[in-house]
Amino acid sequence: MGLGSPLVAEYLNKKYGTKFPISPGGCNALTTKAFVQPDGAMFPCQELTEHFTTRGGKKIAIPRQSVLESSAKDIWESKLYNGLLSAFFKPDALKNYVPCNQCKYLGSICWPCPIPSLRGDRLVMHNCLLTMKKVKEEGIELNDKVQISCQDVINRASSDPPFRTEIVVSTDKIIKFFGYQMDTKDMRQIDNLTGMMKQDIRSRLKNFCTKHAEKTSKDENVNKIIIENN
Ligand code: SF4
Repeated sequence: MGLGSPLVAEYLNKKYGTKFPISPGGCNALTTKAFVQPDGAMFPCQELTEHFTTRGGKKIAIPRQSVLESSAKDIWESKLYNGLLSAFFKPDALKNYVPCNQCKYLGSICWPCPIPSLRGDRLVMHNCLLTMKKVKEEGIELNDKVQISCQDVINRASSDPPFRTEIVVSTDKIIKFFGYQMDTKDMRQIDNLTGMMKQDIRSRLKNFCTKHAEKTSKDENVNKIIIENN
C-alpha cells in the first residue's frame, strides 16, 4: 500500500523501521487515471475538462475526445495527453507548492495536483510540511535514492529549463543532488544525450562567434573606408 506521499513513507521507514513502499504520490490525473463522462468524453480529471478556466478567466483548452470514437488507450497515449502531462506537472510551474519546491520527489515520482498552479495559487502540503519540520528537528536524513529512468529525466528536462541546463552542464552532480538512482543502461543513454546536447551548444557557439567576428571585421573595414575617405 502506498501512503500517497513518498516523503512521509521514507520518514516513517527511517524513524520507525517500517517498510512502506516509496511509491508514486500526489495526483493520479494523466499518470495512472483519466475520467470518462457519461457521453464517452475522456478528460484528465473531473475538474480539468473543456470548461476549466483559470482565476483570471482564461480558458485552458482541453479538447473533448471520446472513448466511443477512438480507444481510451489511443487517447491516453496521444501527443495531446503527453503534452498535458509535461505542461501541467512541470516542476517550475509548481514552484509555489510548499514544501514540494524543496522535495527530491517532485516531478520524479510525485506529481501534486496541478489545478492550484493553473489557477495561480500556492498549495501547502500539510503532511509533507510537518514531515519536513520533523526531519529537521529530529536530524533524520532522508537520503533514499529515487529510482528513475532516462525517460523520467527527459520528461523533467523538457518542462523544467533550469533542470535541463543543470543536467547538461553537470549531469552527475544534479543526479546526486536529487538523490536519483539510474541503472547503467539509462545512465549511458543520458550521457549520450547530454553529450549530443553539449556538442550542439558548442557548434552553435562557434557559429555565433564566427558570424560575430565576420561582422566585426566588416564593420572595421567600413570604418576604415570612412576614415580614409574623410
Ligand atoms: S513534498 Fe510535494 S513532491 Fe514531495 S512527497 Fe510531498 S507532495 Fe510529493
